[in-house]
Amino acid sequence: MDLNYTPEDAAFRKHARTWLEQSLPRRELRTLDDRRAWHRKLYEAGYIGMGWPKEYGGGGARPMEQAIVADELARANAPAATNGLGIGIVGPTIIVHGTEAQKQRYLKKILTAEELWCQLYSEPNAGSDLASLRASAEDRGDHFAVTGQKIWTSGGAIADWGLLLARTDPTVAKHKGITCFLLDMRQPGVEVRPLKQITGSSEFCEVFMTNARVEKSDQIGKLGEGWAIAQTTLSYERGGRSLARVTSYGAQYRRLVEAAHRIRRHGRPLIDDAIVRQKLGRIWAELEVERYNALRVLTILERGEHPGAASSLTKLSYSEFEKRFMELAQEILGPYGQITEGAPEELKLEIDTAVGDHGTWAHAFLWSRAGTIYAGSSEIQKNVIGERVLGLPKETRADRLGGRR
Ligand SMILES: Cc1cc2nc3c(=O)[nH]c(=O)nc-3n(C[C@H](O)[C@H](O)[C@H](O)COP(=O)(O)OP(=O)(O)OC[C@H]3O[C@@H](n4cnc5c(N)ncnc54)[C@H](O)[C@@H]3O)c2cc1C
Repeated sequence: MDLNYTPEDAAFRKHARTWLEQSLPRRELRTLDDRRAWHRKLYEAGYIGMGWPKEYGGGGARPMEQAIVADELARANAPAATNGLGIGIVGPTIIVHGTEAQKQRYLKKILTAEELWCQLYSEPNAGSDLASLRASAEDRGDHFAVTGQKIWTSGGAIADWGLLLARTDPTVAKHKGITCFLLDMRQPGVEVRPLKQITGSSEFCEVFMTNARVEKSDQIGKLGEGWAIAQTTLSYERGGRSLARVTSYGAQYRRLVEAAHRIRRHGRPLIDDAIVRQKLGRIWAELEVERYNALRVLTILERGEHPGAASSLTKLSYSEFEKRFMELAQEILGPYGQITEGAPEELKLEIDTAVGDHGTWAHAFLWSRAGTIYAGSSEIQKNVIGERVLGLPKETRADRLGGRR
């Protein structure tokens, strides 16, 4: 692993940093239109879809360049672009598995956020065991009719389109009867109901489909091959923006240390307490481990290889780290950690201020649960690591039922 940046990389970073200094929004992005406008600005600067092929409107950039931009965005605490699932998951899936006509029809509008996307995989009884999904797509000659329910659909309420997994053949083994489709969310057969989360916001939705229409031309890959396509998607979700994440954690960490200097307990600053310093030191050491984990993934990508099942190591590691980090933040901040409005300026988090309550420690603590669930829970990542990285025996159905045989 080469941990040095080349002179070209350093120049590229400088350019991105200067652009951000000049272009960062001067005020909070309150509406979807505000976020779309910011997204558009990033796109025009070449900072959206950087790794996508040039012929489909992407930048054809190296993984290192993508990591540098993500890192600089995190460093500047820039608001997130919109259409994250479209850019991160749906677009790459269409690039790998779509027809030329699908690429021409959808990719550019994903990049420009003209059309927003969601991911319609999980169901009430099919999360970790995704292959048990029941939503069905029935062949009606010139189209498919989709009926069933999806849940935990991030961004479902604002999405124009959804990447859908549905069962097309209930008579074969469960992994074999699934097909991948593109579903128009703006049709009468699709009803979207937002769910209120523990954080108070409603980014997730339930999606009910009743004879929803999917054109034959919107089938991705072959009939019955949706499972293999879903695997590509999930590995995109798990590889991710690891280096940028470390930079964000670093900024949050510095805020926490500042807070430990300011908050006084028993008449002296918290930072004077040896236990507090020890715990902060430990988290810093763990954060360094995350940095090297991120660089390892980046090295694999730079070599033109795919991290595959090894991306589960990074995902498990950062998401569990985030929980420990936010638990320590709550311990240090005490009651200040629970304030959602009106906290003293120096005890605020100020991370991703674009989305209201995301700027509070309380929100960051509650949200830190999410990473250990989405894109495969921690237990599932451990299974993947055990079976596919370490080559241990496969989990049996009896194991899943708690060891009963
Ligand atoms: C922030 C967030 C965003 C999400 N966004 C989307 C989205 O946009 N689209 C979408 O389709 N889904 C989305 N999801 C859903 C997510 O993919 C599922 O929540 C996840 O796969 C877990 O499924 P589940 O909730 O049904 O839990 P379950 O699968 O019911 O799991 C419950 C518990 O049992 C454990 N468990 C289950 N199976 C095993 C096993 N074999 N061995 C050991 N332990 C096991 C799990 O680890 C977990 O602790 C999102 C979830 C979150 C938290």
